[in-house]
Amino acid sequence: MRTSRNITLMLLFGWALFMTQSVVAAGGTVAEQDQVRLHVVFNNLPYKAGLQTEWGFACLIDGLDKVVLFDTGGNGDVLLSNMQRLGLDAEAVEAVVLSHIHGDHTGGLDTFLARNPDVTVYLPESFPAAFGREVIRLGAAVETVSAGPRQLLDSIHSTGEMNHGIKEQALIVDTPRGLVVITGCAHPNVANMAEQAQAYLGKNIYLLMGGFHLGGRSDAEIRAVIKRLKALGVKKVAPSHCTGDNAIRLFRDAWQDDFIEGGLGAVIEVPR
Ligand SMILES: [Zn+2]
Ligand SMILES: [Zn+2]
Repeated sequence: MRTSRNITLMLLFGWALFMTQSVVAAGGTVAEQDQVRLHVVFNNLPYKAGLQTEWGFACLIDGLDKVVLFDTGGNGDVLLSNMQRLGLDAEAVEAVVLSHIHGDHTGGLDTFLARNPDVTVYLPESFPAAFGREVIRLGAAVETVSAGPRQLLDSIHSTGEMNHGIKEQALIVDTPRGLVVITGCAHPNVANMAEQAQAYLGKNIYLLMGGFHLGGRSDAEIRAVIKRLKALGVKKVAPSHCTGDNAIRLFRDAWQDDFIEGGLGAVIEVPR
């Protein structure tokens, strides 16, 4: 009996190792300090077990000069709990960038700032003034981002607030492999945002990730977006959140081995 239990434990341990390595393998296997890591810390789309899925999106970026949180999900308790379970320290975050005003991207901010107010929060200019005042009241600094692309931090840029539909900014991480573009909901159209990022920095997009906002769209509309992204030369994609199941299936078909799982708990590593 004891032997069979030991074998069971060994199998479980082996499986755990395999799961860890398969996540690492998604982006490469160079030394840890030479990578930009994108941690999906809030998402309605599940990926890693033991975390709490809820509608919304947040992504933590480390491996650069500063740790950056892009969006905060809809619920700060869920956000902080997921970060803790993923071994990520909320107090290490130095900058928070919000993509757009919707609650599934901004709802976790107040709880996050109660834990760590020592950050600069980058808000699109269209946010109500009261929102910025509340951030300052909670102890953080505010920078507003207007239309037009700009640098936010070392290796971190914004598309600027884009004005088609709901006003929104995408985050751009400039890596030696190419650009990583992260969209919250991509209300201004994910292809428009990718084109803006690429035209601004004049570099190809290595990875496009986040919510692509294609739920309920026809196959023809989704294929038109895929065609534009392919024409841009987008190397890898990791769609999640509001992308929609059908669009995710079509992106998976179109990118094959360059499709990366982007659900909750995914860690995407970009070698520098
Ligand atoms: Zn939205
Ligand atoms: Zn959203």
